[in-house]
Amino acid sequence: MGRRTRKRIRNEAYRRFRDAMIVEVGRCEMALLDPTHRVRMPLSTLQIHHIMRGTRRERSLTERCAILVLCCECHCKLHTGRKHWPEAAQLALLKLVRPLEYSLEKYNRLFAGPANRITEADIARYGEQ
Ligand SMILES: [Zn+2]
Ligand SMILES: [Zn+2]
Repeated sequence: MGRRTRKRIRNEAYRRFRDAMIVEVGRCEMALLDPTHRVRMPLSTLQIHHIMRGTRRERSLTERCAILVLCCECHCKLHTGRKHWPEAAQLALLKLVRPLEYSLEKYNRLFAGPANRITEADIARYGEQ
């Protein structure tokens, strides 16, 4: 199998994963934090956001412990106001809205950075706000 074919299959698998997750979550995960946010948004406005950046993003493409489902508006806001939304704050949101899929241990393992780069204490600090 050629590299192109493999890549096509991978893209196809990713698209399937993405579409299924959007349908399943079915709402913008930022909505809980914002009382003015519409809870029901058309699925077509929902997007997948990868919390990991740069080369590490590739590793976490289909890792639900590293993904938020956001409407296009919140997604855009998060990217433009990144300094207000550090990784730990994004993970705290994930923990709040999808606690069963939150796993800092798994996230840190995927990230493969220095041990304790982000700790539960960091998450808790954002979770309280
Ligand atoms: Zn994003
Ligand atoms: Zn939103």
